[in-house]
Amino acid sequence: MTKPTPMMQQYLEIKSQHPDALLFYRMGDFYELFLDDAVTASRILEIALTSRDRNAENPIPMCGVPYHAAEGYIARLVASGNKVAICDQVEDPRKAKGLVRREVTRVITPGLILENQNLTAKQPNYLAAVSSGRRGTPLGLAYLDVSTAEFRVVELETEEALQEELFRVSPKELLLPEGGEPLWVHPLQKRMDLALTFLNREDFDTRRAYECLKEHFQVHSLEGFGVRNREQGVEAAGAILTYMKRNLLVPGEHIRALLPYSRSDFMILDEATVRNLEIFHSISFQGRKGSLLSVLDETRTAMGGRKLQQWLRYPLLDLQAIHERQEAVAELVERADLRAEIVGHLEVMNDLERLNSRNSTGSSSPRDLVALKKSLQILPSLQRTLGGCASPRLAALGQSWDPLVDVADHLESTLTDPPPVTLASGGVIYLGVNAELDHYVRLSRDAKGWMADYEARERRETGISSLKVRFNKVFGYYIEISKANLAAVPERYFRKQTLVNAERFITEELKTFETQVLEADEKRLELEQQIFAELRRTIAHESERIQAMAGKVAQLDCLAALAEVAARYDYCRPHLDAGDALSIRNGRHPVIERFLQEGSFVPNDIHLDQEEQQVIILTGPNMAGKSTILRQVALIVLLAQLGSFVPAAEARIGLVDRIFTRVGASDDLARGRSTFMVEMQETANILHQATPRSLIILDEIGRGTSTFDGLSIAWAVAEHLHDFKGVGIKTLFATHYHELTDMVQTHSRAKNFNVAIKEWRDEILFFHKLLPGGASRSYGIQVAQLAGMPQEVTQRAKEILSHLENGQVSPAPAVVSVPRRTKSARGTAAAVQLSLFKPSLEWVRERIVGLDLDHVTPMAAWQTLHALKEQLRDGGSPPAAKAADPEASSPAVGEQARKR
Ligand code: ADP
Ligand code: MG
Repeated sequence: MTKPTPMMQQYLEIKSQHPDALLFYRMGDFYELFLDDAVTASRILEIALTSRDRNAENPIPMCGVPYHAAEGYIARLVASGNKVAICDQVEDPRKAKGLVRREVTRVITPGLILENQNLTAKQPNYLAAVSSGRRGTPLGLAYLDVSTAEFRVVELETEEALQEELFRVSPKELLLPEGGEPLWVHPLQKRMDLALTFLNREDFDTRRAYECLKEHFQVHSLEGFGVRNREQGVEAAGAILTYMKRNLLVPGEHIRALLPYSRSDFMILDEATVRNLEIFHSISFQGRKGSLLSVLDETRTAMGGRKLQQWLRYPLLDLQAIHERQEAVAELVERADLRAEIVGHLEVMNDLERLNSRNSTGSSSPRDLVALKKSLQILPSLQRTLGGCASPRLAALGQSWDPLVDVADHLESTLTDPPPVTLASGGVIYLGVNAELDHYVRLSRDAKGWMADYEARERRETGISSLKVRFNKVFGYYIEISKANLAAVPERYFRKQTLVNAERFITEELKTFETQVLEADEKRLELEQQIFAELRRTIAHESERIQAMAGKVAQLDCLAALAEVAARYDYCRPHLDAGDALSIRNGRHPVIERFLQEGSFVPNDIHLDQEEQQVIILTGPNMAGKSTILRQVALIVLLAQLGSFVPAAEARIGLVDRIFTRVGASDDLARGRSTFMVEMQETANILHQATPRSLIILDEIGRGTSTFDGLSIAWAVAEHLHDFKGVGIKTLFATHYHELTDMVQTHSRAKNFNVAIKEWRDEILFFHKLLPGGASRSYGIQVAQLAGMPQEVTQRAKEILSHLENGQVSPAPAVVSVPRRTKSARGTAAAVQLSLFKPSLEWVRERIVGLDLDHVTPMAAWQTLHALKEQLRDGGSPPAAKAADPEASSPAVGEQARKR
């Protein structure tokens, strides 16, 4: 290869410092990518791949994006899991001697995003780190959303707990010490978009982590943060801060706290439960639509939206805290005018958290700061509104409210409103803020007057009345004279440019003026930038106050949203206590009722306790509403424990520590991992982790295997939960195995319920009403009929069913025979024996019993055995029957035989 040019040398050197990032190298108005980076980026961005030095022997692949549109391109690269290093010119190209100095000014990774364009407003964007520690120590997990400054740490005892917590947090990027991917990572990566970054082990070093955190928070000890003795947690947090500083190249002053918590502080919802209850994401719509969140999210601000999701992710276990939220919601439900006033203010509030973070990291634009100002200006009115509140939480919010008037005033008096889009165009700072700036502004403003004077003077002197003095960005100042008047142009005019109908000139005087004005403009821009940077810093000093207020606004927004939902959909305030009963009167499913016509959802009562009615076996035909009732109970408990009202007429709920829901494999097809194994793993997981305070929802467990296996497993699981640790666990178990209803005969706290239906002229009507007692059959055929199955098929199914029922299906393998009409037999009414469950092996028995072992030679015995084996392999029919009627061993029967 030929020696690289100096520029390429610079490129390669910078690139070598960021081998794992795509390097955006600034050249003029473009960011250019070279070599492998160019190939990768052009593929993802679908932009043309060209080359530098096209004629060289080894042309260098290259592609580029205009710098002013770079954000969008960067967003796409980062969204596809890449890192992008921005390499800018760090000196003025006009003043540079030789090659312009360039440096990486920021590395954007999936977990370190600040631009709104690359973030979802109501979604956090976490960077997480895990310190796996030594054997026998807990695992440390820390996570940071740099765009909101939320920074938390938790320690977990097991890898399962770690996986669950990571799933709950759903970070975009995970930092791990180098040295191989831990086993628990891969399953997580399959389920979410998670970029992995391996760091030097030193970045996780305990001592270094402590020092890094202490220095960042400017404290002598971390005691105040409550992370003493949380070594692994501190290591993870330290790694995060180190990584953030290294890549964002900012101190991150807005990150003012590290909040530790324990998993046991909150209700635990494991992954399967979050998914099955469709809290954030609906399975059928594959998105937010149809989720609990979509019904609940009446928040008006982005930070409120994020907070609500956090409330949903971490339902409370503390009665006092739940009660406080409830009281506030109740007050806002009752006082519609108060709510409307609050909502009205929130409606115009911008994302305080992210505006604040962007400002603190030095990337706020003039428009950002004006948006911040406008939002801060709403704070005093909200405080006045809160002044009249009675509930402790709202009153406390009002009392601790910081209206931030000083900060808003400072912004108001400094920034023009509306400001220009970019700082570069000038006009961002008001007159009167800085005397020097005012001077330059006046100079360039006076230019207009001067030009008018000059124009008049020159017209007089030359006698050309159409003479014009003008300015444009490319050519600067000029005098324009039409072709017709060219003869009158004086000597002192110098030609600058020729147009079709005119010529443009410059004079000494105009040149001097131009230099002055351009200098003034430049000075002015420079000063504006200085003043703006100072303004950023001043506001950054207040970032802790702004952030605290953002948190309060978010809380208020959540409470108002819950009240809005409660009022609009007629929810009731649940009663929570430390008891162990659960009673819901006229409960509804919050999401399904929204999809039905107003008032057509059928409410249901449910009662569970630890003494009388602990395990409910719910039977009923398909489509009756079993799954709906199950989930509505779980959702009502969840809502209650996050402080919300619930869709019911009345609810009394003893605190629940965990909710588990499991759905039979075939109900879970959308996940694409509908294996029986997963179903069993998830169920096993409950049996290991549940406590007597848990609530368990099992929907069609045991469906993913054969009937008798499935029934046996379902039965054993139900028994186990009934007898769990001698006290049992509250369980709702929906099943289409109506045989399970027999369990109540031997298990006193198990009760049967079914969902009412009515058969009417061979069809069924669904009432969706829960009634005591078990269903005696499945009604599958009626459902098939409703579904539009051809009548011949359902008619035939009824025939088969009635034969099956007469033939007594029992868990012991039985031979069931039903008549079957065949083409040849039609009209003769001769029924052919058709084994439905298992081919009859009676003939095998006869052959073996008939063998006279005393007189058979080994060879003859072998031959008999061989013949039997061949016949069995052919479908298991006796040779005679096979000859008489080939259809007797139709493929369907063979299938059945093999499945068993
Ligand atoms: P199952 O689990 O018994 O097969 P689902 O709970 O899935 O039945 O309910 C089937 C459908 O019936 C639901 O999608 C819903 O449209 C309707 N449904 C269920 N419960 C009710 C109810 N209480 N009121 C009105 N419609 C209901
Ligand atoms: Mg169901």
